[in-house]
Parts: sequence; C-alpha cells; structure tokens
Amino acid sequence: MDKINKFVTCLIPVHACNFRCQYCYLSHHVNENVYGGGIRTFAASPKDIVSYFSIKRMGGPCYFNLCAPGETMMHPQLIDFVGELTMEGHYADIVTNGTLTKKFDDLIESLKESQRKRLFIKFSFHYLELKSKNMMEVFLSNVEKIRKSGISYSIEITPHDDLVPYIDEIKTFSLKNFGALPHITVARNEGTKEIALLTKYSREKYKEIWSTFDSALFDFKFSIFNVKRKEFCYAGLWSLTVNIETGVYSQCYGGDELGNFKDADTAVHFRPIGKCRQPHCFNGHAFLATGDIPELIAPTYIEERDRITASGEHWFSKEEREFFSTKLANSNGALSNNQKRKQYIVNACLYCANIGKRFVRKMKRNVKHAH
Ligand code: SF4
Repeated sequence: MDKINKFVTCLIPVHACNFRCQYCYLSHHVNENVYGGGIRTFAASPKDIVSYFSIKRMGGPCYFNLCAPGETMMHPQLIDFVGELTMEGHYADIVTNGTLTKKFDDLIESLKESQRKRLFIKFSFHYLELKSKNMMEVFLSNVEKIRKSGISYSIEITPHDDLVPYIDEIKTFSLKNFGALPHITVARNEGTKEIALLTKYSREKYKEIWSTFDSALFDFKFSIFNVKRKEFCYAGLWSLTVNIETGVYSQCYGGDELGNFKDADTAVHFRPIGKCRQPHCFNGHAFLATGDIPELIAPTYIEERDRITASGEHWFSKEEREFFSTKLANSNGALSNNQKRKQYIVNACLYCANIGKRFVRKMKRNVKHAH
C-alpha cells in the first residue's frame, strides 16, 4: 500500500476562466488584471518537472495538487503533466469547474487504468453559475464520465451568502445526481489583511448554516479558520509550494524560496518553515489534514474528500482511499526539539539576510535612477 510521502501544491499558470463566480478569489485582487493574464507556459516540460520531483528524489510517492488561479483544465500542458506524474507513481488531483468536456475526454483517453487510480478530480460545484450559464447538464455528464472511467472525484461547494436560499434545492439535487451531499469548503476574502471569512453572517450563523451538509472538510477547515498557528510546522520539509510558471518552489505561502526545478541537476531542497507566516492556515484542509503539524488532531484527507453514495459506492477508489488515509508522519521522521530550535534560528537568519539583500538591491536601483 502506498503512503503519502510529501504534499506538493502546484500553481498552474492559468489566469483566465470561462466562469465569473461572485466569490472567486481572483476577483478580490482589485488592482490586478485578474482574468486577463492568459495562459502561460510551464517553466520546463512536464517530463522534466516530474523527473526533477521523481519518486527517487522525493523519497516516495507524493500527492500533487494542481490548481490554477483560473480554470485549471484550460492549460494545454496539464494533461501531459498529469500523465507524467501518475506514470511516475505519484498521486494527483485537478481542481476544476467541470465544464470543459473535450479536456475530460482527452484526459481519460490519455491515462491507463493504473494511472487513473492515482488521480482525483476536485469538481468545484458552482451551482448558480452553472444554472445561469445553462451548463448544469454538461457538468453532470462530465462527473458521470469521470466516475465511469475509474478516476476518483469529489464534489465541493464554495459557500456563499447568495447560495443560502438554495440550500434545500442543492441538497435534493446532489442526492439525486451525486448520490451524496457535496463537501463544503470555507470561503475567504483575499482582499483583507487577516484573510477573513467571506460572508455577511456572524461566525456562529455561518457555521450553523453550512454545517448542515455534514462535511468533514467544512468542519475541520472552519475549526482552524482564523486561528493563528503557533506549533512547529513541517511545511518546506514535508510539503512544498511550487510555481509551475517560474519553476520556483517554496516552503509555503510567504515562506522562503528553496530552489527551482529548472536547475535539473540539483537535488530537491527541503527546509521546514517552523513558524507559520500567515494569519492562519487557510488551506489547512490540505496542509494540516495531510499532517504538516503532526500533533494537531485533524481528519485524514480521505475523510474530507470521500462520500459513500446511497447505493454504497465510494467517490474514491480503494487505492486512493488507502493512500489518502495515511499521514506525512507515516513516511517522514519527526525532528527533535533541539533540531526544531536550530531550524527556527536558521530560518530567522536567512530571513534577515534576504531582507538585507532586498534592501541593498533597492538602494542600488535608487542610486541608478538618481543618476
Ligand atoms: S500552518 Fe499552514 S500556512 Fe502556515 S506554514 Fe504551515 S502549512 Fe503553511
């Protein structure tokens, strides 16, 4: 049975989308040309990226999360990338709005059965947008296509105040079409410094409304939302954040850069962040459920993603259920308190050195402009 060795979240360079959901994180960045950034080429070929992050170099099979700021499936190199990852023996997921039918056909056709067992599709169920664009049937047929192909899937709703009047309708629809209720994430407002909850409701009311979906994803994500993490975090050692457009990989959001996969001959560099630099772990349903803070009581990733339908079928294959039931600590040795203390010091020194370098660069630029 495969155990999760590292969690690697990949930013796929698509800054475009065929949808305009009101709660979309892209739309919170008011000063940026958010939907006009287009689709940018990967920093290296999918084959070269995967050979950089090979099983041998990483120490075992890893979970690669593939998500774009826009619609992930639009990227022309994505299917090849998934093919290379799953052929290597890694596990992957694609986050998608589920509407690009031709891409699903191509994806299914390109993968062997053994590769399909290492992939899941995270269907973002944009109920109102699907209705207003008259694309619900397209979405349903793509979910069904994926189900029949042997690829695992999960249906997830981003909770939004406009959806509240439709909750009963959504539940009835989901039970009929997916055999179970969708999972629920927690919507964040990226336009706020503290990354606040995106709602007009109080925290208590928000919980009361959305917990009726009985989603382990929501329950855990909500329990850690806006809670500053003070424990030692293994992000950077047990997980990586990779920008596929530039090749740069880092410890976590706001963490130090560790290397670039374009430097094909160098080993993958790992260094734990230790102290979290974010107001809260807003994607802790992945980082923390897979186990970046091992002492934190958290569900397994499969508990957050799978559902058993009324007819007794799982959304996830047996192989994926086993893999996503494991935690990072099952494959990685923990650091002693002494080692953790050393890492805090190393990180603090490197952090200060980087600030110093940036300051010198800025001063040099200013002097140049003054001349
Ligand atoms: S607690 Fe979460 S956001 Fe903070 S460093 Fe760890 S994984 Fe990253």
